Amino acid sequence: MNEKQRLLKELPSVDEILKIPDGVRWCESYPRRYVLKAIREVIDNRRKEIIELSSTDITIEGMTNNIETRIQKLSSYSLQPLINATGVVIHTNLGRSILSERVLDNVRKVSENYSNLEYDLEKGARGKRYVHITELLREITGAEDSLIVNNNAAAVLLCLNTVAKGREVIVSRGELVEIGGSFRVPDVMAASGAILKEIGTTNKTHLYDYERAINENTALILKVHKANYRITGFTEDVPVTDLKKLSEKHRIPLMYDLGSGCMIDLKPYGIHSEPAVQEIVKAGVDIITFSGDKLLGGPQGGIIIGEKEYINKIQKNPMTRAVRIDKLTLAAFEATLMEYLDEEKAIENIPTLKMLLQSPKQIKERAKKIASQMKRQIKNAKIEVAPDESKAGGGSLPEVAFPTYVVSIKPEGVSVNDLEERLRKGIPPIIARIKDNAFFIDARTVRNHEITSLVKGIRTALY
Ligand SMILES: *Cc1c(COP(=O)(O)O)cnc(C)c1O
Repeated sequence: MNEKQRLLKELPSVDEILKIPDGVRWCESYPRRYVLKAIREVIDNRRKEIIELSSTDITIEGMTNNIETRIQKLSSYSLQPLINATGVVIHTNLGRSILSERVLDNVRKVSENYSNLEYDLEKGARGKRYVHITELLREITGAEDSLIVNNNAAAVLLCLNTVAKGREVIVSRGELVEIGGSFRVPDVMAASGAILKEIGTTNKTHLYDYERAINENTALILKVHKANYRITGFTEDVPVTDLKKLSEKHRIPLMYDLGSGCMIDLKPYGIHSEPAVQEIVKAGVDIITFSGDKLLGGPQGGIIIGEKEYINKIQKNPMTRAVRIDKLTLAAFEATLMEYLDEEKAIENIPTLKMLLQSPKQIKERAKKIASQMKRQIKNAKIEVAPDESKAGGGSLPEVAFPTYVVSIKPEGVSVNDLEERLRKGIPPIIARIKDNAFFIDARTVRNHEITSLVKGIRTALY
């Protein structure tokens, strides 16, 4: 018998490994099927090594670490928290808006108990799930009635299907947008059964373009907020107030897909491109839709507000049942919206708004704190604080560059790209950006309680 054959013969069996104390412990703490799978994989790997290399460690002790790591990997959650050091506050790939503890407390309270989700406590009879946020939305936005569905794409689809199925919807060519994640106005229009009536040109659309397009088959005038891009230069679009006049004159409803759904006035912060929801309500738009997890800073959802007449019709559409929100989302919305009763509280307590509107001075202080901890623990990298710019993300405020501070890391002995990969695959994963051959940690989106594990992650990745 040669060496290879001897090693193959002596390779431990799955049963032998299951009987050692570690094996017993694994079976108690992890799903048994993953324990077996991990043991088999590690044995198979060893067998391959014997065949290819004629040598490997075939002792059980030499295999336990590999098995344990594999079991942990197999039994860990796929969807997991990570540290967003990109500075992009509403990062679509990283979960858009995050929720505050107060909001999550409410989600927990409502979901670990029975609730009056669809039960009218006054009447002792069946109620509607949407009533829980109607009053709040009326109070905050001034809109007569409201409805929340799964997301804004569903909201737009539902509105078009209810109001304009088989009839024409007028949209400016400058507003036929695609939003990340495959939301395209012409496609949603087609899916809703409404007929798209394009008017104007890419850069200019006039009131007379709208007026000329109106005929007996026109069901709706739709305005779409150019949430994620800007056309600059020789441009013109029609203000919503003019569209309102036109819609009244011809008795055709006006709808505005606002996208981001900002519920505070951003002008004092120097941001003039994002209309507040309240302004659009005041302009008399009949149906307004926006996302719950962009600038609003709540859970995923699509909010529809407007005239009772239309909201009633939309509620009765059978499609509404297919895109309804669950009680967890409702609980999160109610708690989020409650913050908006007081604008200052909203900015303080809603993480998205807080991260976007914090002062560069506050960010700089945090960046310095991160840098000083890093410098103490990490010697093989050049670490410094530098000014930079961050983006809102999520297709919101595309042209606004938010002044920020980053911790720039120039590692020695490992490339910036390798560092990026190690951090991305770490526990927790750390996601940041590479710029000028340095690794940039943007302090805007790093929260104070994450600093220790951020620094530890980077130290680990560099050794
Ligand atoms: C983001 C956005 C949508 C899609 O909203 P979701 O909540 O992602 O479904 C639709 N329209 C506009 C203008 C948007 O900005």
